[in-house]
Amino acid sequence: MIEDYFTPEAAEFIREAITEAHGNEVFFVGKINDSSLVYDVRVFARGNRHAVPAILDAAKTGNVVVHNHPSGNLEPSPQDVAVASAFGNKGVGFYIVDSRVENVYVVIEPFVPGETVRVDNESAREYLLPAGPVARVLGEKYEYRDEQLEVLSNVTDAFNDEYLSMIEAGTGTGKTLSYLVPSILWSINNDERVLISTNTINLQEQLINKDLPLLRDVFPKKFDYALVKGMRNYFCLLRGEAVGQDLFDFIDDGERGSMKDVLEWAKTTTDGSLSDLAFTPPDDVWDRVSAESESCPGMKCPHYSSCFFFKSRRELSRASVLVANHHMLFSDIAIKGTAGPDSDFGIIPRYAKVVFDEAHNIAEAATSHFSLKLSKHGIMKTLSRLRSRKSKGGDKGILSYISHLAQREKDSALREVFERSGGALAAAVERIEAVSEEVFNSLYGFGAEISGEAAISIRLTEEIVRNEKWTGVEERFGALEKSLFSLENEIGHLLGVVESSPHADSHIKLTAELGGIAKRSLAFREVIGRFFGEGDESHIRWFEGNRRRAAIFCSINLSPLDVSKELSEKLYSKTKTVVMTSASLAVDRNFDFQKKNIGLSDDERFRGLIVDSPFDFRTQSLLLVPADMPEPGRDDYEDSLSRILSDSISITNGNALVLFTSYSSLNRVYEKTGKILEESGFAHISLFKQGEMPRGLLLEKFKTLGNSVLFATDSFWEGVDVPGDSLSMVVICRLPFKVPTDPVTEAKIEYMEKQDIDSFREYILPHAVLRFKQGFGRLIRTKTDRGVVLVLDRRIVSKYYGKFFINSVSGSAFFCGKTEEVLGRMRDFFFRTEKH
Ligand code: SF4
Repeated sequence: MIEDYFTPEAAEFIREAITEAHGNEVFFVGKINDSSLVYDVRVFARGNRHAVPAILDAAKTGNVVVHNHPSGNLEPSPQDVAVASAFGNKGVGFYIVDSRVENVYVVIEPFVPGETVRVDNESAREYLLPAGPVARVLGEKYEYRDEQLEVLSNVTDAFNDEYLSMIEAGTGTGKTLSYLVPSILWSINNDERVLISTNTINLQEQLINKDLPLLRDVFPKKFDYALVKGMRNYFCLLRGEAVGQDLFDFIDDGERGSMKDVLEWAKTTTDGSLSDLAFTPPDDVWDRVSAESESCPGMKCPHYSSCFFFKSRRELSRASVLVANHHMLFSDIAIKGTAGPDSDFGIIPRYAKVVFDEAHNIAEAATSHFSLKLSKHGIMKTLSRLRSRKSKGGDKGILSYISHLAQREKDSALREVFERSGGALAAAVERIEAVSEEVFNSLYGFGAEISGEAAISIRLTEEIVRNEKWTGVEERFGALEKSLFSLENEIGHLLGVVESSPHADSHIKLTAELGGIAKRSLAFREVIGRFFGEGDESHIRWFEGNRRRAAIFCSINLSPLDVSKELSEKLYSKTKTVVMTSASLAVDRNFDFQKKNIGLSDDERFRGLIVDSPFDFRTQSLLLVPADMPEPGRDDYEDSLSRILSDSISITNGNALVLFTSYSSLNRVYEKTGKILEESGFAHISLFKQGEMPRGLLLEKFKTLGNSVLFATDSFWEGVDVPGDSLSMVVICRLPFKVPTDPVTEAKIEYMEKQDIDSFREYILPHAVLRFKQGFGRLIRTKTDRGVVLVLDRRIVSKYYGKFFINSVSGSAFFCGKTEEVLGRMRDFFFRTEKH
């Protein structure tokens, strides 16, 4: 009944407006009163579905969009369903009425906030008790842990009382279940979405494939969860159609087979996401058909209602728990701006609570996310869409298609613009190609000259700007900026004519693609403008490059000096609850460093909790330090390192992870150690080093082969999970201090010193201690693991700051002595292990 949904005045208003529009389609926006009736209605658009994006902008959460079906059939069309879902994500209702306003079809109800229902701590704990629902499903595999309940209670309080909670939960605590249980309960109680953000795909897979399905089995009330994938993970039907029709073909001859396979797959896939493909297509192939925000016309796309990406977004809005990665979360909060995560627009549907797992990566992920980079490769890749020179049959790409249209288009005004723009765009592309080459080569040449190095990484300082040769570099970039601008102008001119033509819809593939190229070009100019412009104190400007054979790789970069303000303004102050958890967040058992790093220092809602690992580190692990090692940096350091390394490896019979802080040192020590082991009869031990195969494969081999040693740096300090005998020793070759000459580190140090802050104590040292803790954390992964951590940097005992590293792993047994004594202790440790 219409009176159940509209006030009489609102129904009458709608009726009159439809009559005025001669029964054609009219879109209205109305409000909801306390009796859930639509009132205060206004006309938004008449007979024009293209106005939907504007309505989406204007309607507020709790409003209702009403439109009439002139046919009188109120059944929503597929397009209505797609549009309704977009409104639903925003909390806006979507109703269809007949032109006499006698009947109504409610496609989506508006969001009406209800009373908050707290999660009962005791009921939440019951899920993880020894005889609780999780234990009943897992049976003997279930391990009850007090520590897990402590984390669960803290997370529950954070949800109920709207805290920003930081929780360090040692390895083996089982923290994923302890934050998932309150997240699900909160979502069920309050019909509010909770977002779980991780840094790695591995953890996302664990949540989606193991933990969440387990909890869905044990919760009495059904709940949905979903993984949020980035737009580029989805096949774009519009771009795929263009390739399928050979409209602007620029696939390399060698990649045609893969493209054909992708297009075949696209006909049968149900979710259209990259992970559904049985093979990994070359990047260039996927790049050609993947969905991308720059070229997507959204609701104007003829495939909008069946689009894989938008379908996935509609499905997300049904989920109670979403799993995403830190990067995607930062993209989302950047788009939502000061409106905050619990608001309407962004790449993730609104969410009220956020749980960061692997939270030690928040600052780094935010820094990387808010950084900007421009390289010749990036520019060329975009230009190759317009003209690819790689195919044997001559140039391919959008320009060829435009010249085809210049001959075949029936509309004379369009034919004219295709003819004119084809030539102008080709000239612009040529100019940019020539200038880019020169620009980046001259920048690299400048850097190599002032540093005397082939591999450069240089911060843009006042001194560099004053260098007389810098003006030449700057002028060249100015020329590049101008060329990009004229490309955008040409594209803008063409788009202006085509999009206002009555044939605009038949050229949507072309206009979407060109629009995407223009947006990218604008982004390139933004990087150049900010890099060479003045007054941007918030970003560190630096350039890097290298020469490989005849090719020069060079880029300009901007990295945020500090992400704390951004996070504070757009995340913490706008989100009711943020939980941050990881096994390594505290330094010297406090969170001061992390709080400063990510903008939580002054927040009164902050609560911290440290929960130690349930493992018995005193018996399971031994920290060993040979005190007679030369200090790192001394000429004889690497020789000593290789010797003691081979002696230790021969005791553990391989099964070791050797962690470095630089690739060059890794390579040298790998060679030397390999030789010593071979000469001493230990050739059966396999040595692997990072980079010789993909990370996943390398870890798999290391895990399964046995008697292996993995030499690694960077990302291997964390996320390596090798339980059992395959990892019995972790070697930390050098305390993991940041390199002070790295442009970003250098700028941060300078920034802190200017404010009279001791950069070593406040930044370099705590960062290194956390990295050390992560490296150490690779050793003991289960309660039956045993092993040693060998630290081959004597500064851990000779310098005042060494105690911070040792204290950070204070649960472990510790021994420091001469090399022979250390090796003796190691033998004893493993000998005793064997006896057990
Ligand atoms: S809506 Fe966008 S992403 Fe989806 S098919 Fe159309 S252009 Fe591609």
